[in-house]
Amino acid sequence: MKKTDLELGMGQDITRRDFIHDTGLAALGLCLPLGAFASAGPGQAGRYYPPTRTGMRGSHPGAFESAHALARAGKPFPAPRDLDETYDLVVVGGGISGLAAAQYYQKKFGQNARILILENHDDFGGHAKRNEFHQGGQMRLALGGTHNLEYWQFSDTVNAMMDELGIDIEHLLRHKEFGYGRNGENGPAVWFDAETYGQNKLLTGVDFSEPDPEKLAAWIDEFPLSVEAREQLKRFVAMRTNVLEGMSEADAEAYVHGTRYFDFLREHGGLGDEAIQFFDSANDGSWGVQTRNLSVAECAWERLPGRQLLGEDLVCKAWDYSPAMFPDGNASLARLQVHALIPNVAPGTNAHNVAVAEFDYDQLDRAENTVRLRLNSTVVNAANTGSGVSVTYINDDRALRLEARHCVMACYHVIIPHLCPDLPAAQKEAQKYQVKRPLLLTNVLIRSSAAMDKLGITGARCPGRMHNYVLMFKGINTGGFEHKFADDGPVALTFWGTIAPPAEAIELNEQMRAAQAKMLALNFEDYEREVRIVLRNMLGPAGFDVENDVLAITVNRWPHGYAHDYLDLWDPDWPEGEAPHLIARRPFGNITMANSDAGADAYTHVAIDEAFRAVQELS
Ligand SMILES: Cc1cc2nc3c(=O)[nH]c(=O)nc-3n(C[C@H](O)[C@H](O)[C@H](O)COP(=O)(O)OP(=O)(O)OC[C@H]3O[C@@H](n4cnc5c(N)ncnc54)[C@H](O)[C@@H]3O)c2cc1C
Repeated sequence: MKKTDLELGMGQDITRRDFIHDTGLAALGLCLPLGAFASAGPGQAGRYYPPTRTGMRGSHPGAFESAHALARAGKPFPAPRDLDETYDLVVVGGGISGLAAAQYYQKKFGQNARILILENHDDFGGHAKRNEFHQGGQMRLALGGTHNLEYWQFSDTVNAMMDELGIDIEHLLRHKEFGYGRNGENGPAVWFDAETYGQNKLLTGVDFSEPDPEKLAAWIDEFPLSVEAREQLKRFVAMRTNVLEGMSEADAEAYVHGTRYFDFLREHGGLGDEAIQFFDSANDGSWGVQTRNLSVAECAWERLPGRQLLGEDLVCKAWDYSPAMFPDGNASLARLQVHALIPNVAPGTNAHNVAVAEFDYDQLDRAENTVRLRLNSTVVNAANTGSGVSVTYINDDRALRLEARHCVMACYHVIIPHLCPDLPAAQKEAQKYQVKRPLLLTNVLIRSSAAMDKLGITGARCPGRMHNYVLMFKGINTGGFEHKFADDGPVALTFWGTIAPPAEAIELNEQMRAAQAKMLALNFEDYEREVRIVLRNMLGPAGFDVENDVLAITVNRWPHGYAHDYLDLWDPDWPEGEAPHLIARRPFGNITMANSDAGADAYTHVAIDEAFRAVQELS
């Protein structure tokens, strides 16, 4: 181990460390034992309970190898053994969409319908992933994927689902102190790192949403950038010209949607490369792509600076993003869905205790259940038969086949052409187009929030690092869980971002595939080293001891993250009815398509709406 790694505490005995490089693991054809990485919480010793697993999560080793062997190498799966199980419905994918499909199926075809949900991960919920830590007798929760509920966008269908599950949005809002890193005593923060900017520097109190150009100028003066870059930025935020003046409405629309934001910053904002770099990772977490790929309109919507050049008074309106949240993100929603389908998994669970309810995973897949949820099971084929559908999946290296009347594909659409090779060619092409955007959420349990408190921050943007944001994850006192902001004990820091694609990847889907590959090729130590460097250099001056204060690390990597929503600069204006997601989701005999991909929009409510549609298409 290198000296610098020792100084970073890389040799310390944290809760769990994964020494195996994933691609090596796949090449060896090894399968991890189910209990690998388990760190049991109280009452769960020895039980199968994946939320407490640390190390490499999200797309964890063992979850994706069968699908990749089929899709990338065209590797045939072994001859399947027929199971003596028949169902009314098989759902492929146990994310929010797949779980919702099972719920809607019960409504349409009756509570006694026999349903099997097959999920390739070792836990249910898909992106809605719970990370659960136990420290000193206390449970700390963090989100491993899907964060929150953007309730203002909900359809009637989604609102009805929320009502049915007892989710009270007003209650969730009232009991949330978490503010995405903006509500520390010293306000929002930006941390510049020495590797990128020549010095480590934390700036607090102001950010580009500040409407007063003088305050902004004083703040920009502190940036560790060249004098020229700082002057450019100061001039830019003080500008009040309207580049759209004199244009017709149609021309203005065409300009803001057809112009690359960075070209706009160069041409009208007078910024050079060094100043522009600051904004490149700003959308990593929220869009899953680098800002260089976005249009003026998309960045204005995201509230990046520049609106003052589009005829608006302010640099940016005040930050008012306030979604509803559970302390494990939308994993609590997935838990409520699973409880609605299989009540024995956690008797007595409701929306007010779901975050602390003990889930008994042994109940998920019992023969006596009308609904069964089978984990660690990757579907490799689904074919229409005369009377229904035949579905083959891999579990523990065995290929198993069963029959059902119907099948809902609630998995990522890019894999469907490989599972259903008989689909029409145009539909398979459309599904292949829906390349998802990789995302990364690394949770680090630290001994105490003292260093963050001393700095007066609850998070920071890190424009030079792999994770664009670090957020202190507490203050979501919902679902029966409480972790007040005033509690300075152990807390999870959520590092949020994505992996930038290699420079040579040009076209957007190509960029996303290259970034996905990069994400999978990094091993646990790469991620660990990265978060430790940030912790040492950002929090060290405030007393954080990187060798001893890191208690556990969970890397949630999501190569198949956000659904492919259409971007101004990359996707054509498809003729009515011909957008890829509309072609991709066409029913195919007894097989229909759900998942947020089917709505070309990376939201939980879209995943639910698409499940509803997919079930209504079955007869
Ligand atoms: C890091 C992150 C943060 C997000 N934050 C938010 C947020 O704050 N708010 C919001 O509304 N949305 C958010 N999203 C978007 C999120 O994708 C949706 O909200 C929603 O969780 C998607 O649900 P889904 O069921 O459509 O897809 P998924 O959650 O992807 O579920 C599909 C499941 O199918 C499984 N599967 C795939 N192939 C197979 C196979 N062959 N066999 C068996 N199973 C298979 C997958 O592994 C997966 O578990 C976030 C996404 C990510 C990755």
